[in-house]
Amino acid sequence: MPEYVASVGMEVHAELSTQSKMFCRCPVAFGGEPNTRVCPICLGMPGTLPVPNRAAIEMVLKTALALNCQIAMTSVFHRKNYFYPDLPKGYQVSQYGETNPLGYNGYLEIPASGGGTKRIGIRRVHLEEDTGKLMHLPSGGSGVDFNRAGVPLMEIVTDFPPDIETPDEAKEYLAQLRHILVYLGVCDGKMEEGSMRCEPNISVRPVGSETYGIKSELKNLNSFRSVQLGVAFEVRRQIAALATGATLRQETRGWDENREASYPMRIKESENDYRYFPCPDLVPMKFDEAAIEALRASLPELPLAKLRRYRESLGLSDYDAGLLVADKDWATYFEQAVELGGDPKAVCNWMNGDFAKMLNETGQSASASKVTPAHLVELVRLIASGTISGKIAKEVFAETFRTGQAPAQIVEAKGATQISDLGAIESAVLRVLKDNADVVAKYKSGQTSVGGFLIGQVMRETKGRANPQLVREALDKALEEA
Ligand SMILES: [Zn+2]
Repeated sequence: MPEYVASVGMEVHAELSTQSKMFCRCPVAFGGEPNTRVCPICLGMPGTLPVPNRAAIEMVLKTALALNCQIAMTSVFHRKNYFYPDLPKGYQVSQYGETNPLGYNGYLEIPASGGGTKRIGIRRVHLEEDTGKLMHLPSGGSGVDFNRAGVPLMEIVTDFPPDIETPDEAKEYLAQLRHILVYLGVCDGKMEEGSMRCEPNISVRPVGSETYGIKSELKNLNSFRSVQLGVAFEVRRQIAALATGATLRQETRGWDENREASYPMRIKESENDYRYFPCPDLVPMKFDEAAIEALRASLPELPLAKLRRYRESLGLSDYDAGLLVADKDWATYFEQAVELGGDPKAVCNWMNGDFAKMLNETGQSASASKVTPAHLVELVRLIASGTISGKIAKEVFAETFRTGQAPAQIVEAKGATQISDLGAIESAVLRVLKDNADVVAKYKSGQTSVGGFLIGQVMRETKGRANPQLVREALDKALEEA
């Protein structure tokens, strides 16, 4: 039986985070009463004229630049003609052609399974408008909600032949792409609300074959998990079919979340003819080099570059850096603390440890919490200078989190500074040894594991304020002499 290799192409639609729709001033939002954000333009009334949304065009250009695309210095909008009840105009404004989309011939890097990165080619990044949404009515009939009609939509399509070969790579591609869009502030990335929709197409072919297999396209995927499971399912299904000598058909398949299986929706006998033509109502977009370069210069540092910098310049582990970079605000908070002079590793440990835990428990975001980056830096310094022990620091942090009071003030008020006075520590050690003669006897008979218990008792005796290093030394010395 031959071995097979899979090829996965990805088509992602992202709703842009603009204030208003693509060609009218209706607001863009999620949910709400049907048909409350509509006007004659987005309802496609005769005689209306569209005016392009400049912010949407800039967002697509930024995305294209972040995805290393070439930019079409002249680009036109086309009409894609088809009939469907959710499309009031009878056509969708979109962009057609190889080099007409705002961005083309780019790539995105994903972490490779064996370390390093893998480039996934991007064929096009273009701008279009969303359609309305069909809905079932409680009365049993169907209705159309046009609130979404005309919302600016960006389509990002990977190159052919596809670079993605496994379900993991498909998921990773989508995760990285979402990450970049959220960092750029062009899409909120909420897959569950339909802000980002993904349609992978999958084919398999025998290893070594130059000819690509018949592909199927998957619909209704609304999470990273369903993309990964859906692609894996299709690869298995197609290999099993080919192994029994069956012929695959080019088809569109739906994804059943509960059964974790795909099902046939429709067979694609031939490509639809949409009769694309340039939209006569919209003038061609023209850009100049200077404007594009200014936009390129305005791009924020992207997640993968940030991750690399945290690892290489700040000495963080891949894991720690990954946790920080996963959320843009979280990364910004970290960078503010480091800018204030906080030790990167120590700040990172507090953030990914106690701080993250408390934020999770209370459902807050870092920026909305009472702990400022300056607080964190102060706390880290109090520990580094030996003013407070790590144990006390945890209590101080919890109080800062609760009250917003600065760590140094809390330490001062509590008299919680660390005891580094050797005399005080030694007398505490002697008291503990005297009270625990039986444990000392065990230690003397070779059961040295009880040493930890004795350290704990000394820390209790000093209310956690003793310098643990000095306690250990004093205890060793006292046991030696006991
Ligand atoms: Zn409108």
